[in-house]
Amino acid sequence: MIKHPFDDFGTNLFSETVMKERLPHPIYKKWKTAIHKEDALDQTTADAIAHAMKNWAMEKGATHFTHWFQPLTGTTAEKHDSFIEPGEYNQPISRFSGKSLIKGEGDASSFPSGGLRATFEARGYTYWDCTSPAFLRDNVLCIPTIFVSYNGETLDKKAPLLKSVEAISKQATRIVNLFKDKDIRRVTPMLGLEQEYFLIDKDLYLKRRDLTHTGRTLFGSMPPKSMDIRGHYFGSIPSRVQAFMKDVNEELWKLGIYAKTEHNEVAPCQFEIAPIFNDCNIAIDQNLIMMDVLKKKAEKHGMACLLHEKPFQGVNGSGKHNNWSLVTDDGQNLLEPGDRPHENIRFLLFVCAIIRAVDTYPELLRMGASCYGNDYRLGADEAPPAIISICMGDELETILRKLKNGEHELKNEIETTPYAIANLSYVPKDTSDRNRTSPFAFTGNKFEFRMVGSSRSASTTNIVLNTIVADSLHDIANQLQDLKYIDDIRKKALDICRDILQKHHRILFSKDGYSQEWKQEAQKRGLANIPHYVNSISSFMDEKTIAMFERNQVYNKVELQARVDILIEEYRKSVKVEVLTLLDISKKEILPALLKEIKFYTDSKNSLGIAHSFYDDKIQTLLDKLEKLHTQQELLDEKMRNRSTYPDNIEKAMYLNHEVLPQMHVLRTIIDEIEDELSKERYPFPTYDDMFMSMQ
Ligand code: ADP
Ligand code: MG
Repeated sequence: MIKHPFDDFGTNLFSETVMKERLPHPIYKKWKTAIHKEDALDQTTADAIAHAMKNWAMEKGATHFTHWFQPLTGTTAEKHDSFIEPGEYNQPISRFSGKSLIKGEGDASSFPSGGLRATFEARGYTYWDCTSPAFLRDNVLCIPTIFVSYNGETLDKKAPLLKSVEAISKQATRIVNLFKDKDIRRVTPMLGLEQEYFLIDKDLYLKRRDLTHTGRTLFGSMPPKSMDIRGHYFGSIPSRVQAFMKDVNEELWKLGIYAKTEHNEVAPCQFEIAPIFNDCNIAIDQNLIMMDVLKKKAEKHGMACLLHEKPFQGVNGSGKHNNWSLVTDDGQNLLEPGDRPHENIRFLLFVCAIIRAVDTYPELLRMGASCYGNDYRLGADEAPPAIISICMGDELETILRKLKNGEHELKNEIETTPYAIANLSYVPKDTSDRNRTSPFAFTGNKFEFRMVGSSRSASTTNIVLNTIVADSLHDIANQLQDLKYIDDIRKKALDICRDILQKHHRILFSKDGYSQEWKQEAQKRGLANIPHYVNSISSFMDEKTIAMFERNQVYNKVELQARVDILIEEYRKSVKVEVLTLLDISKKEILPALLKEIKFYTDSKNSLGIAHSFYDDKIQTLLDKLEKLHTQQELLDEKMRNRSTYPDNIEKAMYLNHEVLPQMHVLRTIIDEIEDELSKERYPFPTYDDMFMSMQ
């Protein structure tokens, strides 16, 4: 029989189809009601599912299971337990109970809890997220779970995400119900995550301690060609990379992930992979799996996959584009201008709700999309600046402007040709324009948030996005809920849109977001520009943020404080590792290499006995660099030591950001200058050029 490339699709996923096949029908039905939160799973159902899951996994060679969860470190964690248990006559048997499926107990102390642990209990519990399918990797059955403390505070990124999905579903449903669609019971945020990454040769990677320790190069001078190895974007994919991508796709398809698009990115050695969009919770799980698969497969192919936002200075960085929409349980995309007038007013209402949410909490979005590494990418030439604005495209912006100015008329629904632009019963359908300079762009039937860093879990971004939009919809639903007639609802909806636009139109910007003029214009409009991530972290603790998250039951104050503590800690650690690594490399490798170069020229001058000014100039240049290197190294060392004078963690982080990092940059510049002076044989590291060419 001929094997089709997609024959193995989903073979490693305990999908709904598998459940339907393997579970007694009443059990399957119970699971269905449980995922819609209509009823809790009882013990018998859980036991039956666990049994079927175990058999399925063991038939495929699994020996272990794990509660796969997403601690606040931003990656994923797992602790494997085997199915084995002693049976009669000491014969091993396999067992997996409903209890083990539903709940796991882990020692939370090895994961950051931001003080939640100290205040409460060391123990943490994992609970099955029955809405995201279990999957098989190697010999392990992975069960997606949430992770909470003894007292129920969330210790992970999945639990609040699920709460944010609930919050937005509830509020969006209220609104669609008011707009005629009474039977809709759920609205789900849908997510398509495009993942960018770099690949470099593994041997070269291992020779760069900056890369192995920090994920990015801390020094490296720009080669003469670099970005000119153009033709890269959408160019033909090198065969070595092609083999890797094939392997990645096959593994992802087996896991039921619709890996769809793959291409070269703008920078040398940079690539992108995008699956087809999915339910927000599942899309994030899949992205985390995908990041892991990329890393592991790269290794197998003698390469290293770099997920860092900016592995190479001066070269385009990597993002994770967050394509987001809202879809009802009967399949309507609420961000799609509809065919019927009431759908268009509903569309405009949702768009306005989003505009208000984004303009009210820009710093939260900036924060949620970021990490220390993203600072090197945002505002550089290839990524949006750290200013949040929304691009609706020219046509929609015109409509919104008219709406804001009250220049709209509401035509009767029966009318057949409502095509005057001022008439809001018509919204052109394909307005998707490709403004890639906007951090938050409307692209036809979804918003694409392009600020998110490539190395991050997309959870925090979507927790923020779902919740702020839920909050905005909540207020709108409250204003509409007492109206009985659809005409009144439509009229009021347009009034609400007008009010929102009058207040928040400053956030709309459809022109070049990379330009210098925009930065000035944004400042005039009073939009926040937060170039340093560390300055955005504390926005999680603003009074209005706490109230908003509490109102929507996504985070409480204690949980938010814990997150701020963890993020600050993570920031400090990232900077510390970078500074110490750079200092170490500088002292132990760069400086000796420079001395060798000096010796080479002095020896050569002496042995040749030629008194050419070239030698004196070269030696002098090298000696000047030596002096500079030494001085700047010492300065960085001293600044780093001085951080202990700031006992407060936030102050320490600020000090690192404002004092230490600029000094690290100064040292880097000298090292790059030295690289330019050293002969190839004495430069102890693979250069940018070596790394970029390694994939061609
Ligand atoms: P581009 O690079 O031009 O932005 P891609 O096709 O690479 O486009 O990626 C678009 C991403 O958006 C894909 O993951 C796609 O599945 C996803 N997407 C498409 N429609 C929607 C939608 N309605 N909601 C969320 N994501 C979507
Ligand atoms: Mg995109």
